[in-house]
Amino acid sequence: MTPTSEAHVPVRTCVGCGRRGTPADLVRVALVDGVAVVGRRAPGRGAWLCGPECLADARRRRGFQRAWRTDVPSAVLDELAEQLAAHLARHGTVDEQGASPGSADPNSR
Ligand SMILES: [Zn+2]
Repeated sequence: MTPTSEAHVPVRTCVGCGRRGTPADLVRVALVDGVAVVGRRAPGRGAWLCGPECLADARRRRGFQRAWRTDVPSAVLDELAEQLAAHLARHGTVDEQGASPGSADPNSR
């Protein structure tokens, strides 16, 4: 086990269940100005999640706190749950393939 030349396929780990997958398999969530933002392009530190089903585990395990290295108010994660649901409804799948030029609504409010 000497990963000298790691394969060029990036591997992410779900902060909920610990499953490993490629960025295409997982949803990225970043903390931007104290708000959880779903999306691969969101700036800042990212936490990765298989999907909404892992959110509860992630909260229990404090996976987001670890990934973002900061304390996360539960209200932020409540809102994240809604965002995830909306995100999946919009894309139909967690795979957004980084190719959604029209989704310019980081602050649709
Ligand atoms: Zn998971």
